[in-house]
Amino acid sequence: MDEAELKAYLSSSGAFLEGHFQLSSGLHSPNYVQCALALKNPAWAGKMGAALAAGWPGPKPDLVLSPAMGGLMIGHEVARAFGVDFIFTERENNIMTLRRGFSLPKGASLVIVEDVFTTGKSTLETASVVSARGAVTAGAMSVINRMGDKKLPFPSLSLLKLDLTAYAPETCPLCRAGVPVVKPGSRKF
Ligand SMILES: [Zn+2]
Repeated sequence: MDEAELKAYLSSSGAFLEGHFQLSSGLHSPNYVQCALALKNPAWAGKMGAALAAGWPGPKPDLVLSPAMGGLMIGHEVARAFGVDFIFTERENNIMTLRRGFSLPKGASLVIVEDVFTTGKSTLETASVVSARGAVTAGAMSVINRMGDKKLPFPSLSLLKLDLTAYAPETCPLCRAGVPVVKPGSRKF
C-alpha cells in the first residue's frame, strides 16, 4: 500500500473530507478527518495494521496498547500483525487507566497505537500509564499524523502525514467566500 492508494481510500471511505467544516473545537477547516470510517472495513484495517507493523523500525514489542476508543481497531490489527496481545486504556473519572483485568508486566516493551495523532495528549497519557506500571513505551504509531511540527518524546511512525489548517470563524476564508459550513456527523455525506 503506497501513500497515494491510502489517500484515495481515505477519501472514498469518507474518512478524509474536503470542503468547509466546523470542527468540534469550533474552528473552521477545509478538511475533516474521521478515521473510524476508514477502519470500519476489516480488510483495510488489517492492511493498515500490517503496514504499520512492517514499517516499525524497532524490535517487535511485547504488547500493543491503545487508548479507547479511536485506537481500538487499528491497535488490534497492529497486534495481529506483530503476533502479540492487544490491550487498551480508557478514561475513568477522566483519568487514563487500565481496567478490565488488563495487566502490564514490569519491564515489558510496548508500542502505543492510535488512529490519529492530533495533539499527542492521549498518547502521552497512555505512556504515563505504562511507566507508572514499570513497563516501557518503545514508541507510538498512527494511521494519520496531524500534529504538524509537534513531536512525541519517543520514536513514532504514521502511514500518512496531513497538514490540516483551521481558522477562527472570523478569519475563515471559506466563510468570507460564502461557502456553506458543515458540521461533520450532523448529516450523512
Ligand atoms: Zn468558515
